[in-house]
Amino acid sequence: MLFILSGPSGCGKSTLARKTLAQLKGLDFSVSHTTRRRRKNEEDNKDYHFVTKDEFEALIKAGKMVEWAEVHGCFYGTSYKELEKKGAGFDLLLDIDVQGAMQIQGRVKKAVFVFILPPSFSELKRRLIDRGENSPEEIRNRLEIAKKEIRQYPQFDYVIINENLESAVKELKSVVTSTRCMLSMRQKRIRPIIQSFSEEEAG
Ligand code: ADP
Ligand code: 5GP
Repeated sequence: MLFILSGPSGCGKSTLARKTLAQLKGLDFSVSHTTRRRRKNEEDNKDYHFVTKDEFEALIKAGKMVEWAEVHGCFYGTSYKELEKKGAGFDLLLDIDVQGAMQIQGRVKKAVFVFILPPSFSELKRRLIDRGENSPEEIRNRLEIAKKEIRQYPQFDYVIINENLESAVKELKSVVTSTRCMLSMRQKRIRPIIQSFSEEEAG
């Protein structure tokens, strides 16, 4: 199953993704392509596939991207290859912006959409400032975009309010775990169990 984690910049997507991936087995991270510059703590092909604008445009032209968007002045996108790299039965977590999440709806048969809401506008602002990665101008821009992005929450299956981090991680893990319990996801394991009931004698 694909789990699409989305929400405004600074709401805590990557923090939640990192913690959930570390705590849940069988869940992998979808490595996006991006044209933005690599940060010091990031690794190529692990955090992102870092590419040039020309390389990114060539991927789009060749129809290799399932979704892509220009986010805060750089290009970001998910390739079909990334979604296919894991076989059936494996879960993949996508940390993508709201425009990308909207594109995935309708292009992918099965996906669970999770919207991350910050507890308030002022807390989102505080988190962006405290993160210390963006200039005041960039922060203002992100907050303006956030005002539009949060209106999309009704398009999602789940909404997690990231107030207390540990509770939010617990909720995201519950979304993944409960999806794994769905009848449609369990058929492979159910069949031999049901079969055993018709093969073995009661006495
Ligand atoms: P996003 O990936 O959505 O842009 P981040 O994961 O980078 O957001 O989080 C933005 C900032 O908020 C980071 O400095 C992170 O440590 C902090 N943060 C995330 N979740 C919480 C939380 N529940 N409470 C307080 N701070 C948080
Ligand atoms: P950052 O540069 O902070 O890593 O990410 C900036 C924004 O780009 C975040 O909102 C993140 O969710 C989004 N993003 C990351 N990968 C993708 C992707 O593959 N597609 C889209 N549409 N957005 C992405």
